[in-house]
Amino acid sequence: MGVSTENTCRECTHCLEKFACPQGIDFPEILAIHTRYKIAVEFNQSIEPIKEMYQEVREEALRCISCNQCLKWCEYDLDIPKLLDETHRYLG
Ligand code: SF4
Ligand code: SF4
Repeated sequence: MGVSTENTCRECTHCLEKFACPQGIDFPEILAIHTRYKIAVEFNQSIEPIKEMYQEVREEALRCISCNQCLKWCEYDLDIPKLLDETHRYLG
């Protein structure tokens, strides 16, 4: 058992060593909230604290214009804009 690592940001921050989002989004930070959401759901825990966490970065997350410039910098081929969108749909 356990949360699948597929489509999960490892928070390795390797992308940020080489790339900065033109919209100023710290996307690994937001994807980490996405991971916490998935874990909470898997273990039947309250998502309220995670919703609160998301509120802190909500405005930042909404600046994503899906330009896809970040994609090639993720070692794990994550679809970052899609995951940001999902995070908003789950927690926004
Ligand atoms: S987006 Fe990809 S490269 Fe960046 S921290 Fe997450 S897993 Fe690592
Ligand atoms: S797709 Fe979104 S997160 Fe990625 S570089 Fe463009 S604006 Fe930034």
